[in-house]
Amino acid sequence: MNDKNLLKFDKNHILHPYTSMIQPLPVSLAVSANGVYITLNNGKHLIDGMSSWWAAIHGYNHPALNKAIKEQLNSFSHIMFGGLTHKPAIDLIKLLSQLLPSELNKFFLCDSGSVSVEIAMKMAIQYYYNMGQSKKSKFLTIRNGYHGDTFAAMSVCDPITGMHSIFKNILVSQFFAKSPDCGFNEKWNEDYILDFKEILLKNKSDIAGVILEPIVQGAGGMRFYSPYYLKRVRELCDQNDILLIFDEIATGFGRTGKMFALEYPQVVPEIMCIGKALTGGYMSLAATITCSKIAEGISKNDGVFMHGPTFMGNPLACSAAIASIKTLIGSPWENRVANIENQLKIELMPINKMEIVSDVRVLGAIGVVELKKNVNIEKIQKKFIEKGVWIRPFGKLIYLMPPYIIESNELSILTSSIKEIIKSGDI
Ligand code: PMP
Repeated sequence: MNDKNLLKFDKNHILHPYTSMIQPLPVSLAVSANGVYITLNNGKHLIDGMSSWWAAIHGYNHPALNKAIKEQLNSFSHIMFGGLTHKPAIDLIKLLSQLLPSELNKFFLCDSGSVSVEIAMKMAIQYYYNMGQSKKSKFLTIRNGYHGDTFAAMSVCDPITGMHSIFKNILVSQFFAKSPDCGFNEKWNEDYILDFKEILLKNKSDIAGVILEPIVQGAGGMRFYSPYYLKRVRELCDQNDILLIFDEIATGFGRTGKMFALEYPQVVPEIMCIGKALTGGYMSLAATITCSKIAEGISKNDGVFMHGPTFMGNPLACSAAIASIKTLIGSPWENRVANIENQLKIELMPINKMEIVSDVRVLGAIGVVELKKNVNIEKIQKKFIEKGVWIRPFGKLIYLMPPYIIESNELSILTSSIKEIIKSGDI
């Protein structure tokens, strides 16, 4: 099949995310990826501004990650995790333990971010069930959140962007507080948490857990908020016997400027989800991590935790994750992320003055330009590709989260492409 026919076949038979099943948005044919460049079939090299949705933090085709997977492949690519274990899983958990608060000491390895959120929610529900408080089975969260596309995860996504109306007969109804209004650096005022507090106090006998993306709300709106909000959430959860779940699937592994966003408020949740950059974007792997209190609660009276995916602890994915974490901690990632942050601020902030722009914000290696109206994705994508960059906006948001290895001149090409396209007004 020539490339034209490959794309025709793709269009007719292969479903892509968040698009029509019969008239999908166009896709480009990628043939290779190396460092921060994605190469298309027409030979065009695109500078990657997306890290493949927060994941490819070291760029593509990284020698250390390639080597780790190849070596593991020579031993075995997968074995079941029931009744068996292996060194890649053990070494990975040892490494992760060094990066996380010591209270988080029980790790469940699973296949994707959404599944890790399902597991986190099951853990919270099963904990209270086993403690004789089965009424506590709902969750409180904030608007503009995103936690994945499976049903329980979807139930705690923003009701509008998560399209709750379509699934209302099957989605569990959860509690939603206003999205935090306090920007990352803003002075704290107790009014910011009043709505959340009121809902929590009124419904605490039904609430098993609060679930939040700490500091950065990702796919639900790319919003940043104050660490104080999280400190207050922790206090309210403690005072009212409610568990705290942090979804660090997007924020984990340095993206916000800290290894994990929980380091900003210095708050430890009972349950935490990680994924995406865990394997440097190489393979699908996620983890739900909890503490002794939850493990002991669930295990009381011979209770067992009811989950066990086929590909649990996949050794190839664990090997990629070990190599990715070692690459990260062996690199000057804090400086790199700080440099990206500075440059994004310098180069993106002036866009704020443009008529069609409603806000520009930057935190760590994340730069967001929010427009006053939705972009035409098909049109804008084509223009970005013409300019030699891979940037994939959604809704009103044009955003960058490049691999940490990006060079300053490459980052400038990303930011100037955004500037030029917005300036043209034809979006
Ligand atoms: N939580 C957050 C914060 C996410 O950003 C995502 C993915 N965009 C998920 C959960 C779901 O992860 P996955 O796509 O791997 O299922």
